[in-house]
Amino acid sequence: MSADSNPGNHTTEHTNPTADGRELIRFDKVTKRFGDNTVLDNLDFTVAAGKHVTLIGPSGSGKTTILRLLMTLLKVDEGTIRVDGDYLTHEEKGGKLVPAGERHTREVRKKIGMVFQQFNLFPNMKVLRNIMEAPVHVLGLGKDEAEQRARELLDLVGLGDRCDAYPTQLSGGQQQRVAIARALAMRPQVLLLDEVTSALDPELVAGVLDVLRDIAHTTDITMLCVTHEMNFARDISDDVLMFDAGRVIESGSPDKIFSDPEHERTREFLSAVL
Ligand code: ADP
Repeated sequence: MSADSNPGNHTTEHTNPTADGRELIRFDKVTKRFGDNTVLDNLDFTVAAGKHVTLIGPSGSGKTTILRLLMTLLKVDEGTIRVDGDYLTHEEKGGKLVPAGERHTREVRKKIGMVFQQFNLFPNMKVLRNIMEAPVHVLGLGKDEAEQRARELLDLVGLGDRCDAYPTQLSGGQQQRVAIARALAMRPQVLLLDEVTSALDPELVAGVLDVLRDIAHTTDITMLCVTHEMNFARDISDDVLMFDAGRVIESGSPDKIFSDPEHERTREFLSAVL
């Protein structure tokens, strides 16, 4: 981490053979408020290509808001977000930054996939079609190619034999694995994971985390994760950012954060969740 020299600037720099050092996500002085509640406060951070970054911290500290801003489900009040060098909700015109049109934002957002707490599968479609839908209708992929990709992804998440099931015929863990396959089918450069196991029965959590570990260790996709599963965070993360009240109070390798945290708030948080 280069955060030591400037605690406000959090940059992921650990060695990862798949990364080329390119910045895939960049938050510059991002502030987000809900009424009087400043949820993110002048936040700077970057995630380099191929890295897996986990956001931890108490409930309400702003972690999910970061993911929702990246999906443009929320708008920043101040500051800018860039994805692979492109402004997400701004465009440069005549040397000035102006609010971007919907088409620009849609194109930039295609680089991002997200898996939510609730799986949000289309209930009226079989599993295979759930995964093919967006590649065909959003990316314009041919049906055969989309189907081949969907089958490969279902194999990857261990559900190659459930193509013809409807979501309600699957367990929550299986539905979440379909949701992971569906997000990957759009070939995003960044995968956002928002507490993806928190709605699951405890016995189904491990299967989903194993699939994500496998994806983290065998693909070069960049991951930005919000989780309360600290062992999982330790296994997959290149960097961990500890949030408190809309700011990163501490960041570093999982070994550093989990074994030797510097900040009292981090110690308190970890002793409550570990
Ligand atoms: P975390 O993911 O760390 O639990 P969140 O990003 O979900 O935190 O929320 C941060 C703060 O923003 C909380 O105080 C929450 O109540 C508030 N908040 C989140 N979404 C909204 C919303 N749509 N309207 C008003 N307040 C919100």
